[in-house]
Amino acid sequence: MNPQAGYNQPYQGGYQNYGGPPPPAGQNRGYGGPVPGQPPQQNAYMNGPPSLGPPGPKPSQGGYGAPPSQKGPTGGYAQGGGDMQNGFSHSGQTYGAPPQQQQYGRGPPPPGQQQYQQGPPGPPMSSVQSGPQGPPMSGIQTGPPMSSVQSGRPGPPPMSSGQTQMVNQMQTMSLSQQRPGPPGATMGAPPPSNMPPSSYGQPQGPPGSSAPPSSMSMGPPSSMSMGPPQMGPPGPMYSSAGYAPPSSQQGMVGMQKSTESKPKPNYTGAPGYQGQYGPPPSSPGGFGQPPPPGPGGMGGYQGQPVAQPPQQRRLDPDQIPSPIQVIEDDRTSRGGQQFATNTRGLMPPLVTTDFLTIDQGNCNPAFMRASMYNIPCTADMYKQCNVPMSLVIKPFAELKPQEAQLCLVDHGAAGPVRCNRCKAYMCPFMQFVEGGRRFMCSFCSCVTDVPDTYFAHLDHTGRRIDVYQRPELACGSYEFVATLDYCKNNQPPSPPAFIFMIEASYNSVKNGMLPLLAKHLKGLLDTLPREAGQEESSIRVGFVTFNKVLHFYNVKGTLAQPQMLVVSDVADVFLPLLDGFLVTVQEARAVIDSLLEQIPQMFSDTRETEICLGPVVQAGLEALKAADCAGKLFVFQTSLPLAEAPGKLKNRDDRKLLGTDKEKTLFQPQTSFYQTLGKECVAQGCCVDIFLFPNQYVDVATVSEVCKLTGGQLYKYNFFTAVNDGERFIQDLTQDIQRPIVFDAIMRVRTSTGFRPVDFLGNFYMSNTTDVELAAMDCDKAVAVDFKHDDKLSEELGAYIQCAVLYTSVSGQRRLRVHNLSLNCCSTMADLYKSCEMDAIMNILSKQAVRSVVNSTPKAIREQLMAQCANILATYRKNCASPSSAGQLILPECMKLLPLYVNCVLKSDALQGGAETSTDDRAWLMHLLNSMDINSSGAFFYPRLLPLHNLSPDKDDVPAAIRCSIERLKDNGVYLLENGVSMFMWIGMNVDPEWIQSVFGVQSVAQIDIDSGTLLSLDNPLSARVRNLVQQIRSQRSRFMKLTIVRQRDKLEPWFQHFLVEDKGLYGGASYVDFLCHMHKEIRNLLS
Ligand SMILES: [Zn+2]
Repeated sequence: MNPQAGYNQPYQGGYQNYGGPPPPAGQNRGYGGPVPGQPPQQNAYMNGPPSLGPPGPKPSQGGYGAPPSQKGPTGGYAQGGGDMQNGFSHSGQTYGAPPQQQQYGRGPPPPGQQQYQQGPPGPPMSSVQSGPQGPPMSGIQTGPPMSSVQSGRPGPPPMSSGQTQMVNQMQTMSLSQQRPGPPGATMGAPPPSNMPPSSYGQPQGPPGSSAPPSSMSMGPPSSMSMGPPQMGPPGPMYSSAGYAPPSSQQGMVGMQKSTESKPKPNYTGAPGYQGQYGPPPSSPGGFGQPPPPGPGGMGGYQGQPVAQPPQQRRLDPDQIPSPIQVIEDDRTSRGGQQFATNTRGLMPPLVTTDFLTIDQGNCNPAFMRASMYNIPCTADMYKQCNVPMSLVIKPFAELKPQEAQLCLVDHGAAGPVRCNRCKAYMCPFMQFVEGGRRFMCSFCSCVTDVPDTYFAHLDHTGRRIDVYQRPELACGSYEFVATLDYCKNNQPPSPPAFIFMIEASYNSVKNGMLPLLAKHLKGLLDTLPREAGQEESSIRVGFVTFNKVLHFYNVKGTLAQPQMLVVSDVADVFLPLLDGFLVTVQEARAVIDSLLEQIPQMFSDTRETEICLGPVVQAGLEALKAADCAGKLFVFQTSLPLAEAPGKLKNRDDRKLLGTDKEKTLFQPQTSFYQTLGKECVAQGCCVDIFLFPNQYVDVATVSEVCKLTGGQLYKYNFFTAVNDGERFIQDLTQDIQRPIVFDAIMRVRTSTGFRPVDFLGNFYMSNTTDVELAAMDCDKAVAVDFKHDDKLSEELGAYIQCAVLYTSVSGQRRLRVHNLSLNCCSTMADLYKSCEMDAIMNILSKQAVRSVVNSTPKAIREQLMAQCANILATYRKNCASPSSAGQLILPECMKLLPLYVNCVLKSDALQGGAETSTDDRAWLMHLLNSMDINSSGAFFYPRLLPLHNLSPDKDDVPAAIRCSIERLKDNGVYLLENGVSMFMWIGMNVDPEWIQSVFGVQSVAQIDIDSGTLLSLDNPLSARVRNLVQQIRSQRSRFMKLTIVRQRDKLEPWFQHFLVEDKGLYGGASYVDFLCHMHKEIRNLLS
């Protein structure tokens, strides 16, 4: 089969992540929707079948265009404002037939007043309009997704405080380069026109045209060469001019001959390291590896010369710090071990290492990780080092099955014991005095009386004798049963509710979302979250469908059939029923099933394309208020809310602004409506998750505000079709419904004297400077906290942090969850730089950078991030490294990956404005990142690339990852790449036909059906192994990743390459090597 052939058809694979495929180069505008006059072309990039887009209708209509015809049932259902029509109860008939409707006057329907009127046949909803209405939304874009995933993370330097030195290399570079600016400068540059659009999209270039040179070892082929081909002694070359960013092509320092071949470390010694900073890395190849001896003058090198002195050198990618190596080293040294938390300031293994935590007084790192475990004693030192002093908190993280779950402590009516002054909760850090009658708070030093009921004697060491009977004295994490004092109005809360609010429109029916959802929801309702030990979930459920009016459903268990109540006065939405709207699944199973069976039929002929959103969320909020409970709204929506109603939006997209100084305007909400609404929701404990199925611009930046403020999440499926994206959608929804979650939460972070939290990042609302309000919080969400000094800290006393979250559980119990962490304090930079946690640092830095998008410019953000990176490294060099030649790049061991990761963030689709990524996709990625935990952000920025061609069928492990560079791919190899959002399988042209036969059931690479996106279930061990591996990787992420199959040199390849983050970006981002050289130069500038 001609490999190209498939591209004439709608491409359906892979774009799911970001939604849609990127537009073909040069045709961006069409990308979102049908353009009159050129249907075929446009369709080709849509996920949906071509037929979905109405060929004729103007693009200005909703996503799918206006309904094809107007002959819908227009009769009869005219609805007046304020009418509520009651639908199908009593009629008992099947729905193709119009349900009977009843009309109510405004106001909650008094039970006795319902009047039933027969409705005309037809869809239950009234006012069908078929014509296109609304402002045109032509500029669509749903773009592509983002890239990157994770696994690499820099690691903490376990034991050594070493420092790695890049030896080097850089020093020998010459100044010849031609590239004046920092590599970053080009980042915003538009991609060459023949390049494929961003990763979200589908690459369109002719095959091969964009293929990177296979041998590019480092970088762009561009001409920036850097150094002289020969590396002579440094003398002259080190002119103060510094060097410019090295080019990748030649000359970089080096260690290897520039002749091609794969870089291979061949050093045996550890020359590059300067001893006192720590042991050399154990494995070869990493950055810590000493480079082969360079030309004279490289001070740092003491190693042995490698074979022959190279004549031409280039920076060998194997010589620069490798995230793979860092991860593997940590796994080797700490994997499979137990991590006991009984020591202050102890650094945990990396998040990518598998280990078990034994809670002995500090919390499991799954709950809280610090950016440094040895924090600077003074503000001055902190300012100088520039390393964030932060914490990433995931308070409801799921623990491993082998780890002890949190104990629940019940102090009865007295409630938890707390410090009188700062209100910190009893914890292992409190010191008991006066024979155990009082305790001194480790946070504020206040001394508080021990309640009589809590008294215990002290042993000869001053510890309470009951310490091991009391989790709050022995463990870093535990829960308390909250008393009524901790409840709203001193009343115990009701169990929370889930309300499913489903768009019932022409679009949602045509793309298959509505029927698919109705079909799967039935089963999912059996899997609502339960309290441990509970047999049935206490969560109540409710259902609403909407377009430009709202339909509420009475699903009371005693009814024979569900009843529909229509609220068409969306200007001031009200709840038409109380009794029967929220029910438990157990009590109303039959009625709910009946409703879910009927919904698709009821709306199968709808012509409605206009929808509202504000009133939908308001209605959900009102329902929770009326039921006096917290809960979550699951809103399923296809298009921009254009209907005349509160929260109506306009299409204000302007892709031309992306990447410019004005792009921030696109990411600021166009109205404060959704923020205001979000705040009202938070007050009620109403979390909002929105599932978007757009074919064009839906203004994610504006609508996501309501999710962001309420601890919710926004999902997005561009060009959705049930066939191609149904699995992903249903898997995401399943995970979203089932995962552990709490409601109506408030989080407070307390610290010991001398420092305090000053900045919080994540999905929540704060009405004051200390309390983080979360309408809901699930097990995957993280909050990042930044601290600053108030005063001096003491090395002797250390620093203590207590994070307490008051919440309502899924069964309606009010509880407190407490996590404690103690850190060391230091007065020397060397100590500080020994205990930094690279992945936590990047989590914070990337969130801060993304937050700046709405009030800064791309250039300023890039410069700020690069300056911070250079400052961190320069401070280290100045304070910690032994004297050495300025030509050496010396990096702290635990932050040796900082330049790589900073570059990955700069190149990320979440941050880099470019014409090829749609506004909505950018906004969506920014939203995703905002609540990511450390593991997710690590993978997101540095994807995991796994070779599959050598998989052993008898094992079930995940193969060792390789570095994200095209150079690492062999044309007889097969690789899986994933970043937590996207997943690809890249297949080389010369892969063993047997492998292809086993996994794909065809004889050659060319015959693989790459559009299917699924792996056949073939009866052989290799097929099973590959499928299991894909499954295993998916299970590690909080979103379902659809698989996109990419053949070497196919059109999709450039899109895949966008995720090979060590290489030069297709849109101008610097390669790792170039960026490292640039950083080196910046560091030298700072030090000179
Ligand atoms: Zn206190």
